[in-house]
Amino acid sequence: MVELCSECDEPATCFLSVQSGPGETRTTYCYRHAAAAGLVSPIPESVTSAARIAGCSANAALFLADVLGSRPDALQSAAACCIVVWDTARQRFGSAGERVLGCWKIADGSRLATVVQALVDSGVVAADLEAVVRVCRGLKVAGNIPIS
Ligand SMILES: [Zn+2]
Repeated sequence: MVELCSECDEPATCFLSVQSGPGETRTTYCYRHAAAAGLVSPIPESVTSAARIAGCSANAALFLADVLGSRPDALQSAAACCIVVWDTARQRFGSAGERVLGCWKIADGSRLATVVQALVDSGVVAADLEAVVRVCRGLKVAGNIPIS
């Protein structure tokens, strides 16, 4: 099950439990609303700008920026990119990983290519441009992810 943010319909990535009397109030936030609540640092402007260009949520762009920044091997090939994005979603969200990517509409290679391209164009992810062009071209024909 995907837990949703209490402020919007995006998958929750931050959870806050507050002890109030005998009970406990648990609030869920997507990254963007956790930042708005002052729980995490704000999403960098370069990431929100890339999200606008790609037409995706800032939460999705931030996730992919994080994946591509921490796993440079993702930009070796279109297949590697799909696998790394998929693996990271699984690690972070467990069995809900697939649905979280679905909520973010990162459900096919073409969509993934659009966001990757926007992140590179906005300078969020530093990468070899030739590799990015090659990977994005491959992603556009890769079709749906997961590829399992
Ligand atoms: Zn939210």
